[in-house]
Amino acid sequence: MGRTTYVGRFAPSPTGPLHAGSVATALASWLDARAHGSAARWLVRIEDVDRPRCVAGATEAILDQLQALQLLPDELPIHQSARTARYEQALQTLSQAGRAYPCNCSRQDVLQALARAGRPHQRHAEIVYPGTCRIGVAARARSAWRFRIQPQAGSATAAVSPVLDWIDRRLGRQSQDVSTAIGDFVLKRADGLFSYQLAVVVDDADQGVTDIVRGEDLCDNTARQILLQQALGLPRPSYLHTPLVRAPNGEKLSKQSGAEPVDTTEPLAVLNAAAAVLGLQRHAGPLPDALAAWVRAWACLYNPGPP
Ligand code: GLU
Repeated sequence: MGRTTYVGRFAPSPTGPLHAGSVATALASWLDARAHGSAARWLVRIEDVDRPRCVAGATEAILDQLQALQLLPDELPIHQSARTARYEQALQTLSQAGRAYPCNCSRQDVLQALARAGRPHQRHAEIVYPGTCRIGVAARARSAWRFRIQPQAGSATAAVSPVLDWIDRRLGRQSQDVSTAIGDFVLKRADGLFSYQLAVVVDDADQGVTDIVRGEDLCDNTARQILLQQALGLPRPSYLHTPLVRAPNGEKLSKQSGAEPVDTTEPLAVLNAAAAVLGLQRHAGPLPDALAAWVRAWACLYNPGPP
């Protein structure tokens, strides 16, 4: 059977310009696309669904940085902020299938319910939703909406296996029981914004994305996204989670922890640093030669087969 044409993507949130960590992710997903031959497409999607977290000017800064690094998308970038109607449609589909329900719990309600159930929340641990509103509550103007992991008894949909297994191209077999690790998760927040989980699944499917290459910090979201794909009848892309750039204290480098934007006036230096994170050798340049050498090295590492 022929393989669907490769479509990859880099999906930055415009919360600031790219830093060393996000450049490594951008380079990895670009390399993976280029290692899949000339028909492969590489897209950039601006993930501005969480508008309060977005920073003015960040989208332009990111696109300028990508251009300076010669990581050029094959199509004009799309913006999640323009796609609310599609997310609403997907929520309706899930709701009609009995897989989404309104939830009126505040964070405090959830913590109290967990404490009453003898499962008090541990600091820094995931707050596992105990399912309070699953029995059915009236939707209010400011209700959140949650995904019902287990279809209701008697519904047309078969029960979901408690543990979801999937293969990561770099990390190998992964598994998560989303019910016990996360619980019925949020699709739409009480403030009306759609969640990253729903937006990313709908967008990847609408854009025909076949291969997701992104930072290892997002690995933990994959099982939730696969459950949503299954519930919406969407294909499952393949996944490769890349190594993270660590701050000196060992934490993941992030804009929240004050990571510096990369200075793209020296694109080769920036890309060499990113390549090193990905386990690729430094290259003296010029830039197009370095990129071509890394594409070949990437193909050997992750074996995409004949283009
Ligand atoms: N927008 C997410 C971020 O910047 C990436 C989402 C994804 O690649 O699935 O961390």
